[in-house]
Amino acid sequence: MRNIIFIAPPAAGKGTQSKLLVDKYNYEHLSTGDLLREASSSGTEMGKDIKSIMDSGKLVSDDIIVNLIKEKLTSLDGKPFILDGFPRNLNQAKALEKIIDNNYEVIYLDLAEEEALKRVLGRLTCACGKSYNSMIEALKPKTDGVCDSCSRPLGKRDDDNHDAYVVRYRSFVDNTKPLIDYYDKKKILHKIDVNRDVNEIFTDVVKVANNHD
Ligand code: AMP
Repeated sequence: MRNIIFIAPPAAGKGTQSKLLVDKYNYEHLSTGDLLREASSSGTEMGKDIKSIMDSGKLVSDDIIVNLIKEKLTSLDGKPFILDGFPRNLNQAKALEKIIDNNYEVIYLDLAEEEALKRVLGRLTCACGKSYNSMIEALKPKTDGVCDSCSRPLGKRDDDNHDAYVVRYRSFVDNTKPLIDYYDKKKILHKIDVNRDVNEIFTDVVKVANNHD
């Protein structure tokens, strides 16, 4: 299977598609958002700084994130990996090229801005990694507020609110969207419309992971 990089606006389903790839094809899932949320809950001064940046919707510094991802990528033992949330700008994309060979495909999960906002405001997450949405019928949990898979209570991310969303979406447009062109020129970009059923999207993701278009 090919290594995968997901590029997407907030709440487009990077985490959900990553989890499906992990469950079915044994990928290593590297989510910089999850790694940072873990670091931010450590209670250290650095953790507190990271949390306040994340809660505002801004990007954490390239140095912090590149070091974090470098440490993870260099301890993978040849397992295929998913980068979920990295790179977020051109500087990070170039830093990645210094860490690993260009042996990956880039998937752009395309979602309109208003739909991304709706998904952010309704998103519910579980500690097991599953994600639901209280505002989208097909993505609601079977029982309100409880994970279908592990029965734990669902929670909301601290940055899933309107104010942080505006900053996150702006950051996506200004910093991350230029990567679409960058990877398109390298002929490794695959655009997938995510305004569809999760399983239909996954079929397209798997085609890319298998290196078929
Ligand atoms: P995500 O879970 O991917 O939505 O990321 C949540 C937040 O973590 C972002 O809004 C940023 O504050 C931070 N973050 C995640 N990945 C990166 C990255 N590659 N560079 C900088 N900040 C990041």
